[in-house]
Amino acid sequence: MGDAALIDGKAAAAAIRDRITTDVAALKTSHSVTPGLAVVLVGEDPASEIYVRSKAKQTVACGMASFKHQLPETTSQEDLLALIDELNHDDAIHGILVQLPLPDAIDKHLAINSVAPEKDVDGFSIFNTGRLAVGAAAMVPCTPLGCMSLLRQTLGDLTGLEAVMVGQSNIVGKPMASLLLKADCTVTIAHSHTRDLSSVCRRGDILVVATGNANLIRGDWIKPGATVIDIGINRIPSPDNPGKMRLVGDVAFEEAIKVAGAITPVPGGVGPMTVAMLLRNTLAAAYMKAGLPPPPY
Ligand code: NDP
Repeated sequence: MGDAALIDGKAAAAAIRDRITTDVAALKTSHSVTPGLAVVLVGEDPASEIYVRSKAKQTVACGMASFKHQLPETTSQEDLLALIDELNHDDAIHGILVQLPLPDAIDKHLAINSVAPEKDVDGFSIFNTGRLAVGAAAMVPCTPLGCMSLLRQTLGDLTGLEAVMVGQSNIVGKPMASLLLKADCTVTIAHSHTRDLSSVCRRGDILVVATGNANLIRGDWIKPGATVIDIGINRIPSPDNPGKMRLVGDVAFEEAIKVAGAITPVPGGVGPMTVAMLLRNTLAAAYMKAGLPPPPY
């Protein structure tokens, strides 16, 4: 078996951003509406600041309006909820993203569930989680939505395929499993208590991994020809550049590429799709508010 095809998330995300840019312009022309995304950041987590900056830049590049609300680490829960309430009632805002992590003094679940369901572009609220779980139309979390887009682009119809999801978090693993089920895959969810994880992984025509363990999935855990989606982001010391760190996924890429049919690299695979889907969800929220069907991507 030769090397797997690389699934180019960077190119796929750029193509989606192009479509979004066109559709934003169309909405401005037809309805005089500019989709707006508000990002709420509490405290000064350096990684969060980088994410928020990158999201804002891409939002504006697509022609949407970006609103940043940076609150001090000492912000009370009451003040955060008051801001979310204000944004819920602001017609210029179509999507609200409360950047995680939040300081310990704030109830994360309460904050997330205070976002109006139709503006919950992260799809983390109980309302949208529940709708996704029953197969109804919902705001779907951005990373799983991006993974589904890459899978459809690679495989087309997913009906009847064996899909293995390693990781069962509420923001990645569970919604991803729901989407695979909705696409009529036969879905197995594995986690840290799964027995004989390698055999379970080998069942997957589709193998999606989100655990946060560098190189957990070895080449011989992969079914020959399988499509592998590596969501993990891990920083490890670089072997060729002592003192520097490098990003790797949860899949041992050099081994996996010899066995898989197609695989996402890290970086350049799932990561860029996550932000593209945040913009897509914001556009969808603006379309639905204008009485239009959401875009078909
Ligand atoms: P969580 O820590 O919330 O969940 C990790 C999951 O992996 C848990 O279900 C856990 O099982 C399972 N797990 C951990 N270790 C093992 C193991 N050795 N074998 C089998 N299962 C294991 O993480 P997230 O879901 O939030 O994120 C996972 C990874 O994805 C991280 O690296 C994160 O950085 C990355 N990520 C990437 C994004 C992107 O845009 N590319 C977006 C979001 C996340 P259990 O439930 O039993 O504890």
